[in-house]
Amino acid sequence: MFGPSYSLRCVVLHHISATESPFTSGMSMSITPRKFEAALRFLTRYYTPVRLQDVLTNCEGRGLPPRAVLVTFDDAYASVAELAAPLCQKFGVPAVFFVNAAFLDNERLAPDNLVCYVANVSGMETIRSAARAVHAAETVELQSLSDVFTHFFPAITVAEREVFLDALRQLAGIDEDRMAKEAGLYLTSKQLRDLASFDFEIGNHTYTHVHCRSLSREEFGPQVDRNKADLEAVSGTKVRSFSQPYGSSIDLTRELAQHLKRSGHEAVFLSESVANPRGADPFHLDRVSSRAESDESLFFEIEVLPRLRAVRNRLFRRSAGPQGPMEMRSWGEGFDGSRPHA
Ligand SMILES: [Zn+2]
Repeated sequence: MFGPSYSLRCVVLHHISATESPFTSGMSMSITPRKFEAALRFLTRYYTPVRLQDVLTNCEGRGLPPRAVLVTFDDAYASVAELAAPLCQKFGVPAVFFVNAAFLDNERLAPDNLVCYVANVSGMETIRSAARAVHAAETVELQSLSDVFTHFFPAITVAEREVFLDALRQLAGIDEDRMAKEAGLYLTSKQLRDLASFDFEIGNHTYTHVHCRSLSREEFGPQVDRNKADLEAVSGTKVRSFSQPYGSSIDLTRELAQHLKRSGHEAVFLSESVANPRGADPFHLDRVSSRAESDESLFFEIEVLPRLRAVRNRLFRRSAGPQGPMEMRSWGEGFDGSRPHA
């Protein structure tokens, strides 16, 4: 029923924390250290963790071990150095950490955490008021964090997002420099260097965590190239993979894919939780976004749902013709659960 062709499994995690803070509560991307350790135990028992290099040298899938799995982390929370990396080392699991250089050393907050904080502390009305500072907001109903990340942010430019964030800081009375320092949410440069010196790899996640569909060609430099160069300078290692912020294939435009190839990237990761076929294109590797509560649900998330989504996509693409992919995504949300953030 599921077919034999599911090859490389990739998982993506974000923040490892026993508790939620106003900066993360409602974003559906934290996992407790206990659950993370259980997930590593499950992955090492039933799968073979591999390095990015293994994936790149065996793109056609034949050279990979049976049930190969690649573990990745997005957004560079400090918790990945403090909690995730030591556990990965304990279990012998290599990993790729995708980082936004703008937030290294906690000099500012990532937009998602700022929005999350204001929503939790001041309420969604403050978010809606700030959104009115941006022209495109007139057509968008913002009832939840998910609305902000999946509808509002993709519809505005990087410059408009800055206008919105400025309005948000003013309306909520936020001193972002001080707040970012005190919260200490993200990796420091030293933590990044230490990560890169172990069996881990650092990857590109854009400079300020943007939806790439809204980038002009001129913005690829400041968002993609600058991030790669900064991360390579700080970590002392080569950055050769890219993870799409928010994980959607809609953001992987033809122009962006060409730019990533030209600028020395060798792999691109999405987070649509669809099974990768054997011989998957390294510039279109999908990851399962998991916060599984048990081995059973993790098995379901890694083995069952991605295959069902792949079957659904194949069937729908066949019947929907050239309109397929866009339609397919909205139709497919029922399989994807609550995943406002990636
Ligand atoms: Zn991200």
